[in-house]
Amino acid sequence: MKQNRLILAFTLTLFSLFIGEFNGLYAQNNPKTLKRIIIDPGHGGTDPGANGRYSTEAAVSLAISTKLADFIRESIPDVEVVLTRTTDIFNSVVEKAKIANAAKGDLFICIHTNSADPSRSREIVGHTNKTYTVKKNGKKRKVTRQVPLYKVTYTPSTARGTETFIYNVVKSDQRKDMAGEAVDDVVEKLDSVSEKQIKEIEAADPTRSMMISLLTQQYFQRAASLALTIEEEFKSAGRLSREAKQRQKGIWVLAAVQMPAVLVETGFISNPEDEDYLNSEEGQDQICEVITKSIKRYKNSLENQIKTNAN
Ligand SMILES: [Zn+2]
Repeated sequence: MKQNRLILAFTLTLFSLFIGEFNGLYAQNNPKTLKRIIIDPGHGGTDPGANGRYSTEAAVSLAISTKLADFIRESIPDVEVVLTRTTDIFNSVVEKAKIANAAKGDLFICIHTNSADPSRSREIVGHTNKTYTVKKNGKKRKVTRQVPLYKVTYTPSTARGTETFIYNVVKSDQRKDMAGEAVDDVVEKLDSVSEKQIKEIEAADPTRSMMISLLTQQYFQRAASLALTIEEEFKSAGRLSREAKQRQKGIWVLAAVQMPAVLVETGFISNPEDEDYLNSEEGQDQICEVITKSIKRYKNSLENQIKTNAN
């Protein structure tokens, strides 16, 4: 019992030391909290993504991403922007994650366009005779039947608007594995803590796993807050918002980067009206304004949080 209490006390001491160091390190090395943003234009090269009537998701995503980088550099000059691609090339999601992690980004934003399948409908436009061969009691015979003639029409889906995704962290340990590497990084950087203390921290598994949990939660909370802000700003700008959502399928890259990550579906390329909007100068400007404004709000809230924590 006494021993258990001792272990608990020891763990808590280490924990507060670690958190204290981590916060200190964070405030000291990262006073702006948002120094580098990685923008990832979806698809590219051999992977065009979804197709519109005349444009591809890869091309639209690249155009919006390039513009977004300019918008951010212009209105948040103390933030650095890195693009995972600037031309029409294919990067696997593994490469994209590597680029983002190597650049040590503080935020990862994927730009995509959405797509919905057209609805299929058919109407009877007449009849025709069709001859079948049927087998009855071992004998083959031909039967003629009247069958309807259909006209099939595909109507483009009316789905339109924006949605922003974050990775569903609750269901996956992968994010924790990734955050684990970030923790190793933090441990390496703790020069103000003595060698012996670092060894103790590393040896104390409960502390380390708590730390990983904390980082994972932090990424998740930050991503969620930005996703909500982006959709809120899209609404204020008059777009139809399909809200911020959690997803796991098809967004592996969001889990593989060691930073808060969101994926913005900027509109439906499958919807003729949205496709025109996505390809227009005004449409792209509006999307970039909304995302830049949201990043500003996100950055301000992080800075206020740090200030409050420091007081
Ligand atoms: Zn996509």
